Amino acid sequence: MSSRAPAGRVAEVFYSIQGEGATAGMPAVFVRLQGCSVGCAWCDTKYSWDPEAGRAVDLDALVDEAAAFPCRRAVVTGGEPLESSLFVPLLRSLGERGFAIEVETSGILPPPRVGRAVQWNVSVKLAGSGVAESRRIQPASIRGFLAQDAWWKFVVTDDADVAEVLKLAERFALPRARILLQPEAVRREDLLERSPGVVEACKRHGFGFSPRLHVLLWGARRGV
Ligand code: SF4
Repeated sequence: MSSRAPAGRVAEVFYSIQGEGATAGMPAVFVRLQGCSVGCAWCDTKYSWDPEAGRAVDLDALVDEAAAFPCRRAVVTGGEPLESSLFVPLLRSLGERGFAIEVETSGILPPPRVGRAVQWNVSVKLAGSGVAESRRIQPASIRGFLAQDAWWKFVVTDDADVAEVLKLAERFALPRARILLQPEAVRREDLLERSPGVVEACKRHGFGFSPRLHVLLWGARRGV
């Protein structure tokens, strides 16, 4: 281990299936980087907010830990992973180890150059997140992700949220075929209750539906 190896903090590393988005159901190693300054009211990973919490890792050990699982798809998430100093070196190292890479981000920071193909899953926050618009909507970042052919995953609870998605889609010319609506729910019963209405909104507007398979299967449990 080099003393110059990039280091940072990680909330957890685990092997599961992608629960959300365009690749829902695919086996994947999750690397949850520590730290998020966005502060969504309904966040289900508040333990990942404090950048000083979690555990210290260096890059080589972290990539070894991910590569020990029998899977070469990685989901780099957070927290807000783009706020972590480990983010770019981690993506490069995972790529060198043969991982296909997805990133879950709030879109508050523009996509950095990582020099390899990445599936960007951008979940721009709506007013219901409780985050100020000037914080959660970053036009330059959104345009940067548009240029990267990102997926746009919106967490919705009601028609007002869907109307907000339509306005954002129009303002930034987001391609409908790349927009997914996902019910806001951290409990299985809420997910089941809200999903049919969200499916109807998807059918109405030509959006895709994003499940929350991990909530459906395991409820609010962590690390699954
Ligand atoms: S951006 Fe993600 S990790 Fe950060 S508060 Fe919002 S939902 Fe939670």
